[in-house]
Amino acid sequence: MKNRSGVSGVQLLLYAAILVGGAYVAYRYMHKPAVTEAAPGGSAKTIITLMGKPGAGKGTLSANARQELGYLTVSTGDLVRAEIAQQTELGKQIKQFSDEGKLVPDDVIFGLVKEWLAENASAAEKIILDGFPRTAAQAALLMDFMKNELPDYKLRVVELQMSDEEVMKRAANRLVCEGCKEIFSALMLENPDEAACAKCGGKLIKREDDKEDKVRARLEEYSQKNKPLEEFYRSSGLMIDAIPADKSSAEVFAEFKTIVSK
Ligand code: AMP
Repeated sequence: MKNRSGVSGVQLLLYAAILVGGAYVAYRYMHKPAVTEAAPGGSAKTIITLMGKPGAGKGTLSANARQELGYLTVSTGDLVRAEIAQQTELGKQIKQFSDEGKLVPDDVIFGLVKEWLAENASAAEKIILDGFPRTAAQAALLMDFMKNELPDYKLRVVELQMSDEEVMKRAANRLVCEGCKEIFSALMLENPDEAACAKCGGKLIKREDDKEDKVRARLEEYSQKNKPLEEFYRSSGLMIDAIPADKSSAEVFAEFKTIVSK
């Protein structure tokens, strides 16, 4: 049946279907979800590399991030000390580097980090590498490894900035628990020579590489290796988030939280 304009009911239905269909396609096109963007609030899988001179507070910041924000953290200094303490074949080879405040060769330290990441990364969304990479070659090895083995993690660089004078002062007063590795400042203890760890009761000791000549050697090494490392990050398009670290650990942690929430 046709109406006065000569258009049949079937034709009208067809036109209406075309109009509705077209409107739907246009709507979906305009509201296409952005599938590649990470959700705000830093929920994407992240590996943060924590840079900073020896004694700038990387260990303390890592501990806070672990306890309060659920980061999985690893200190390459601790990995090195564990190898030495267990007197493994590798430990015997690297003891001298560590005792002299020198960096362990890039491929050796990367071997330890790679092993740790292979065992632990799948259980964590947010990881802190405390004290790794320390050279441009290490950073290149890490980025290559992440590209191939951990493609869904992004790398972020956070640097704790501190003057050499402040580093020397802190190292001179730093004590470490032999058992749980908690860090203390002798300046905060009533009787540093007899104090025990407030956390586990362990013995507080001075680390071999916190002695003055060793700290100077480590600072020298840091200044030599750090420039090329920063240059490498820049040329790879990675931004370095810097935190002035000559403040209280609470203030440093507050700045860290602001940075990782972006
Ligand atoms: P740390 O406790 O971070 O100062 O590290 C202690 C020692 O472990 C250093 O003096 C080095 O001998 C060694 N070490 C730690 N991290 C690295 C690294 N990324 N590259 C080479 N050596 C390292």
